[in-house]
Amino acid sequence: MFNAELIEKAARFRGVDEDPTRNLSACPALVLNADYTPLSYYPLSLWPWQTAIKAVFLDRVDIVASYDREVHSPSLDMKIPSVIALRQYVKQSEFPAFTRFNVFLRDRFQCQYCGSHDHLTFDHVTPRRLGGRTTWENIITACAPCNMKKGGRTPKQAGMPVHQAPIRPTSWQLQQAGKLFPPGYLHETWRDWLYWDVELEA
Ligand SMILES: [Zn+2]
Repeated sequence: MFNAELIEKAARFRGVDEDPTRNLSACPALVLNADYTPLSYYPLSLWPWQTAIKAVFLDRVDIVASYDREVHSPSLDMKIPSVIALRQYVKQSEFPAFTRFNVFLRDRFQCQYCGSHDHLTFDHVTPRRLGGRTTWENIITACAPCNMKKGGRTPKQAGMPVHQAPIRPTSWQLQQAGKLFPPGYLHETWRDWLYWDVELEA
């Protein structure tokens, strides 16, 4: 169970309601890989406290830091873990899955024609009717107005240059992109494990 599936799970697009950083009663634990880097930066790899405690008892994780809050059961009292590290290293696959979320992440959630962050959708750079395929190399993030304006034309025909030529990113490149999106909430014990803390404090 502790394999690439977990990363996929952590990276799956989540709605606001499911976002543990917005649901603090879930006392989410930051999940680190065995090398103490986050399993995923964006969305940040977080587990609800129940999952974290279960993993502790299954000896699958080490507790790195804890909340002040405790859980009580007949057999023990225990502080809720706030940072946990997997005992077994999870190797990230070299290339991430081709998903809508990952395309947005590669493109920094920005229209690749005008730079807008709003009303984002996807565009086939070479239109489908001209043989354009649905691949990393031919799909880019585009806002709805640009998408409409471009229509079934190539960027050249439409006079709409693409900001950054689409590539198939490596997992490492996608992780780098994820670091640009720190979560709205950071528990103090998470800060040491996330590289952007210094920048946030500055
Ligand atoms: Zn646009």
